[in-house]
Amino acid sequence: MRLAGPRAHEIASAIVERFPAETRHAVLSPVLDASGTELDHSVVLRYNAPASFTGEDAVEIITHGGLVVPTTVLAALIAHGARLARPGEFTRRAVLNGKLDILQAEATGDLVNASSRAAQRVAVRQLDGGLSRRVLALRDEMIGLEALIAYDIDFPEEDDGPIAPRRITEAADRIAALLEQLLATATAGQLVREGALVVLAGAPNVGKSSLFNALLGESRAIVTDIPGTTRDAIEAVIDTPSFPLRLVDTAGLRDANDPVERIGVEISASYVGRAAAVLACWDSAETLAAIDVALGGMASGPVIAVQTKIDAARSAIAPRPELLAKFERHAAVSAETGEGLSTLLNDVTSIVTGEAGPVEVDAPMLTQERHRFAITRALDELRQFQEAWATRRVPAPVAAVHLREAIGTLEDLIGSVDVEQVLDEVFRRFCVGK
Ligand code: GDP
Repeated sequence: MRLAGPRAHEIASAIVERFPAETRHAVLSPVLDASGTELDHSVVLRYNAPASFTGEDAVEIITHGGLVVPTTVLAALIAHGARLARPGEFTRRAVLNGKLDILQAEATGDLVNASSRAAQRVAVRQLDGGLSRRVLALRDEMIGLEALIAYDIDFPEEDDGPIAPRRITEAADRIAALLEQLLATATAGQLVREGALVVLAGAPNVGKSSLFNALLGESRAIVTDIPGTTRDAIEAVIDTPSFPLRLVDTAGLRDANDPVERIGVEISASYVGRAAAVLACWDSAETLAAIDVALGGMASGPVIAVQTKIDAARSAIAPRPELLAKFERHAAVSAETGEGLSTLLNDVTSIVTGEAGPVEVDAPMLTQERHRFAITRALDELRQFQEAWATRRVPAPVAAVHLREAIGTLEDLIGSVDVEQVLDEVFRRFCVGK
């Protein structure tokens, strides 16, 4: 339990018998309610401002677990004047007190919500301030450019001013290139956060569920989500090092009159339409023809024709070559023996990566729409500055306004100026207690 704020020590010491006298000291102490009843023996940690997570006086009480002990200790704290934190309030206070910038605060949320190792690694890097440093460096370069222009403005009458105009052009070009580089990481950032949707599709009994389970077994996947029924779709996450693969087993794609089944088919269609890759499963000439018809241009991403059950396949299965040729990519697997599974997984990963560009989880990347928006805007303003500067259509001080806008956008992104509105957006998604 974490208590932070100006009255944290006073409130905690009302229920902790041996409240620590020194900051960052832990003691084991009885904890009592208002009537003097012992609720627990807890480890209690004291933090003096500003050396705490939020930058305020704080106390952490490590109670025994279970349901009753934490609840009664919490009730005792509330009885003495504490209140429950609002979603993300601790991190919000840390930002307001200058302990974290907004990008790091977002990373805290991303870390807590990480559903894959890749997302975890990116969030930890961002918590370290990797992205913040990159954005700050860009801002500093722009301020440098602004200074060059200010210098130029101060000496307008000189024919050959103290700053060669080419120097300003070159500096602006370099900053634009850096902004573009950063913007290019947004696609990978989204992939790391959201994962790539990989959908298994095919006629009933073609072996989709078996393949789904075999792929999960092969990759030691974490099954994170099992919504709906067997008629719906089942989703699991394969935790690859560079980004999560969200594997979805759909209900068989078929023309169903049964309303419940039709729901299943419609869900499949919506998954297929959004998929980063579709595994079109077949085990006979008929099922290959069926999946070809059922997909019928529905997939927007790449489709891999996956022949299933190859352990049992006899030479009798000979689909028309022109039908097979309609699929650009092919795989052959057996869920029974495991043959072809790791090749298929590698193929899927490289296909998705190919579409999104290389994913370097250790480099700073833009992980939120907010980041993408800010960098896009900064780049846009910089371009307008470049254009105005190159054509000399407007006086230099007017051109420089675009530069100021671009700098302001980067400052908003990192939260070094007026932050309230940005904070509301960031903390909307937080859970209580962080
Ligand atoms: P779905 O309806 O497409 O999900 O198909 P299932 O995964 O339920 O499989 C249908 C049938 O094919 C089951 O009887 C499975 O045991 C069998 N099957 C699935 N994969 C394989 C495989 O790799 N080899 C063999 N021999 N049989 C398989």
